[in-house]
Amino acid sequence: MSRILIAEDEARLAAFLEKGLRSNGFTTATVPDGPAARATARDEDFDLLILDLGLPGMDGLEVLRQLRAGGQRMPVLILSARDDVAEKVGGLELGADDYLTKPFRFEELLARVRVRLRDEGTAESTVLRHGEITLDLRTRRAGVDGRAIELSAREFTMLEAFLRHPGQVLSREQLLSHVWGYDYDPGSNVVDVYVGYLRRKLGRERIQTVRGMGYLLSA
Ligand code: CA
Repeated sequence: MSRILIAEDEARLAAFLEKGLRSNGFTTATVPDGPAARATARDEDFDLLILDLGLPGMDGLEVLRQLRAGGQRMPVLILSARDDVAEKVGGLELGADDYLTKPFRFEELLARVRVRLRDEGTAESTVLRHGEITLDLRTRRAGVDGRAIELSAREFTMLEAFLRHPGQVLSREQLLSHVWGYDYDPGSNVVDVYVGYLRRKLGRERIQTVRGMGYLLSA
């Protein structure tokens, strides 16, 4: 099981990342400032560091510089509030492996985390399958009952969330955070709308409504 260190001072975002990564089978630890990020990344055993740049005590770029100078080679994924090209280049030159600008969708972060960990030798199949439904994450192709179906990007991501949790009821909140990111409006009915789109393409009976709980993909 891969261990991920999250260096992020925004409590809401840190909690969102922890919850999402844990529900996808990762072990996480969170530190809220630069010095703690440097010490924990140096002294404990992690497979990947998610590093916010705007950290109190010592900014993320300095944390990264010191870690690399000390010979720490673990993959580092930078999070930044600004889409600042100079900062991005600086981070990559200091040895960051990837860079995400806030706000981002959780699925995008997850995909990048997986790519970095796959580089380290934890390969996973690119085809997700549940009953007669298949989703190829590499070619972005979806199929049901042996025929190909066309999905929009959001529909694809929502179906991916169901396929990654087979046999599990997903709440509206889980689907919102998986597909629309942490900056969503919890009162939105967008999940119900997209479940409707998926039902039209997969067949109504494929996604069951579980009253008061959420939705369940059936095989
Ligand atoms: Ca910050």
